[in-house]
Amino acid sequence: MHELSFAEQILKCVDQEARRHCARGVSRVRLRVGRLSGVNGANLAFCLKAVAEGSAMEGAEVEVDEVAPELVCSDCGRQPVGGVVEPVCPTCGKEAELLLNAEVYIEEVELDVEDDHAEAKS
Ligand SMILES: [Zn+2]
Repeated sequence: MHELSFAEQILKCVDQEARRHCARGVSRVRLRVGRLSGVNGANLAFCLKAVAEGSAMEGAEVEVDEVAPELVCSDCGRQPVGGVVEPVCPTCGKEAELLLNAEVYIEEVELDVEDDHAEAKS
């Protein structure tokens, strides 16, 4: 279960973030998933909602952006863009190095933080 292990890691990070900011909860989480990661975005969102039950992230909206990875060929240095389905250079056929968007990233976390600045009096 590829997606489930990612979901558990993401939950851990989001939970830490929520604690650090003393948030009451998490309203939204945006994730970036590289198309070569083998992770299915819809499955990941589903797993994340399942593991989030009982945590600060319970009930949070989960958005997943599936993105094309950015590659650089180690041989010819070309950077193929768009429509990449394999980590292979379309120019020379050598295996290209993944630079960005190879795995799963947390793009944005929206926390539900109590804002009592207006009430603060000295
Ligand atoms: Zn190349």
